[in-house]
Amino acid sequence: MPAKPRSRPALPQGAKRSAVQAEGACACGAVRFEIDVPAVWAWHDHGPASRHAQGCAYATYVGSWKSRFRMLAGEDHVTRYEDKEAGTARSFCARCGTPLFYERARSPKIVNIPRALFATRTGREPRYHLNITQQADWAYLGEALMPLKGYPGVMIERPRKKARAAAFDL
Ligand SMILES: [Zn+2]
Repeated sequence: MPAKPRSRPALPQGAKRSAVQAEGACACGAVRFEIDVPAVWAWHDHGPASRHAQGCAYATYVGSWKSRFRMLAGEDHVTRYEDKEAGTARSFCARCGTPLFYERARSPKIVNIPRALFATRTGREPRYHLNITQQADWAYLGEALMPLKGYPGVMIERPRKKARAAAFDL
């Protein structure tokens, strides 16, 4: 059976599409969208607002110009929460709960999208860290791991060095 051609949304008059796009989707697949590649930038947000809204240690976003972002499907499933005090708006899929878009009043032309929603490259490595001083003290920072005996697939952090433990035992 021939592959069904993907329908492309019409561009606004005068707008240009780049040669390469990266497509993203929510967990249930109802919401699909694309950005032109390369994205503007990619960044890690260690602040408590993104941590809470996404239920993670820190959120990694790809920032795209809104003019280079297009919805492909499922717009009706997108629910938006605006935090007027913070000047932010967060959208998510009302069907499966996946966080989708993060907009900030301070950058009105940019839409930030969780990097995890893209299966392909976005043209930017996440090399920027915001709100690093507010990092969760329980975030995994790459400490050495070893297998947990009797639990296949479970790794455990190695016990901390005695010298460090001793510093708290004065
Ligand atoms: Zn969904």
